[in-house]
Amino acid sequence: MSECLDDFSPPLKKILGQLLAFDTVSRHSNLALIEFIQGYLSDLGIEATLIFNDEGSKANLYARLGPEVDGGVLLSGHTDVVPVDGQAWRVPPFQLTESDGRCYGRGSADMKGFLACVLESVPSFQQANLRMPLYLAFSYDEEVGCLGVRSLIEHLGSSDKKPAMCIVGEPTNMQPVYGHKGKTAMRCHVHGHACHSAYAPEGVNAIEYAAKLVNKLSDLSDQLKADSDSRFDPPYSTLHTGVISGGTALNIVPNLCQFDIELRYLPHVNAQPILGSLKNYAEYSLKPAMQAVNEDADIEFELLAEYPPLLTEPQSDLAQWVAQWSGCSDLGTVSFGTEGGLFDKAGVATIVCGPGSMDQGHKADEFVSLEQLKSCCSMLANLRHWMSVEPSQ
Ligand SMILES: [Zn+2]
Repeated sequence: MSECLDDFSPPLKKILGQLLAFDTVSRHSNLALIEFIQGYLSDLGIEATLIFNDEGSKANLYARLGPEVDGGVLLSGHTDVVPVDGQAWRVPPFQLTESDGRCYGRGSADMKGFLACVLESVPSFQQANLRMPLYLAFSYDEEVGCLGVRSLIEHLGSSDKKPAMCIVGEPTNMQPVYGHKGKTAMRCHVHGHACHSAYAPEGVNAIEYAAKLVNKLSDLSDQLKADSDSRFDPPYSTLHTGVISGGTALNIVPNLCQFDIELRYLPHVNAQPILGSLKNYAEYSLKPAMQAVNEDADIEFELLAEYPPLLTEPQSDLAQWVAQWSGCSDLGTVSFGTEGGLFDKAGVATIVCGPGSMDQGHKADEFVSLEQLKSCCSMLANLRHWMSVEPSQ
């Protein structure tokens, strides 16, 4: 029986519309959305655990279906979305607009489309005779450095029953993704010493010392190209300066300059020695010269955000199973980061595979196509089947 896309799953569209209507931009609370999902699950007889942030303004949701045994599969998604400020939207961002086989709205691709597919499929997972548990893990604050999911993973680690594998539903056009780079973002504060520019040698010019550090960073970035892995794009680790500020007036030697740097590193690369050589340069080459002029001069590094890389062998069971369930045997990597690295680090084998494309994510008129949603539902149906039948000998 063929299914017309136009008639495709009214319940799914309804849930997607409900999820999109919550403005869960990361700077806002996600509690209204989380309570909506908790209520939806509760109506189905499923008890969900909420794991709140310190302020109680945001929460992760964690739920289990099926038998309380070790192993099983975790479906992971974040509930927050990026802002719409300054973007020229032609449709209202916080509601579902359906047109030409596409569902528009902020977060439709990244990643409420996946959440809607998962929620819509919950009743059929309940009806199946699952031989292992299915976990739902919906986080907050992914878009601002994968912050929320960490307490959820801690919760998972404290339980004696743990999922064996995880599918993160970030938008990959339903291509199974086995790897991405890790990221560390830092802010460097250079404290110099101010004086009138006519007496410049008596001051410590924070901008000029920051410039030396930025140059060092640029040299390090060139060196990183020697260590490559052709499965990633670009095939080497990258290090760059993204923002810089300092100084107050031309006739004052600046006493402060700060700049933000970002390292995106390959899974086999250790980030510590790279950042360590930058810090050593500051500590042993620059600071002595600065402090010879003024002992209060200093250079400090502040960690802004970080997440680990993801690398699951493409030949692993999970990667091959997700390839079967999604119907896409062309496994790949992505340039953006996900919570997958954190699950992987916690010992849960992880693959990223979800509906929609990051070409649309974070942009005005973000959308996910009905075909992508349909393909995601089909992956979940195949997963359900696999989870509910005994493996054949
Ligand atoms: Zn995302």
